[in-house]
Amino acid sequence: TSFDDVKLTEIITNNIILARYDKPTPVQKYAIPIIINGRDLMACAQTGSGKTAAFLVPILNQMYEHGIKGAPPNNRSYRRKQYPLGLVLAPTRELATQIFEEAKKFSYRSRMRPAVLYGGNNTSEQMRELDKGCHLIVATPGRLEDMITRGKVCLDNIRFLVLDEADRMLDMGFEPQIRRIVEQSNMPPTGERQTLMFSATFPKAIQELASDFLHNYIFLAV
Ligand code: AMP
Repeated sequence: TSFDDVKLTEIITNNIILARYDKPTPVQKYAIPIIINGRDLMACAQTGSGKTAAFLVPILNQMYEHGIKGAPPNNRSYRRKQYPLGLVLAPTRELATQIFEEAKKFSYRSRMRPAVLYGGNNTSEQMRELDKGCHLIVATPGRLEDMITRGKVCLDNIRFLVLDEADRMLDMGFEPQIRRIVEQSNMPPTGERQTLMFSATFPKAIQELASDFLHNYIFLAV
């Protein structure tokens, strides 16, 4: 098995090589074709399984091939509010930062820009980064809501939504924030966006979230 099993755009293939990922992990092997085919996905996968690249590689690939023209240009005149195409929600600053670092690797030289948002005393710095333009936002739920309220981010153009470590986000009490972001923010509804959930466990609350947020989804356990 190799990453060549699905046809990826050249720039993404090059970035996988630069990242020194020679062989996909099991979650990457199964999830990447499902996501490229446009399906919603509920994946049970642990930290360390390679789940980050399993969603970033196909999302960035599809964005590059189909969506980037609809994204805001990265020029100064476009400042104020960003309309990202992709949103990844994560429970902690540490995880969001790790996902962002991977997103930078896979979007290298693609003109697609990722941005990261998390709580702390860094609001103005994050706003300056947003002002440079962004196509993919990796965020903790509270800080994302804050940036939406400040008018810095608008979710109208979201085509790809990922809930990473969904069980941990619920354990940390983020369900109300997540539901507000997904159900009350003008994000395109279930079925009009592609939604991917990753969780180490699959308890009742996660099953409910999956049935509310996902459309005709594939269940994958690795
Ligand atoms: P994750 O489960 O996404 O947090 O990934 C765990 C670690 O494995 C990270 O340091 C990744 O950079 C690395 N990794 C993920 N996929 C691969 C791969 N296919 N080949 C080599 N390293 C990988």
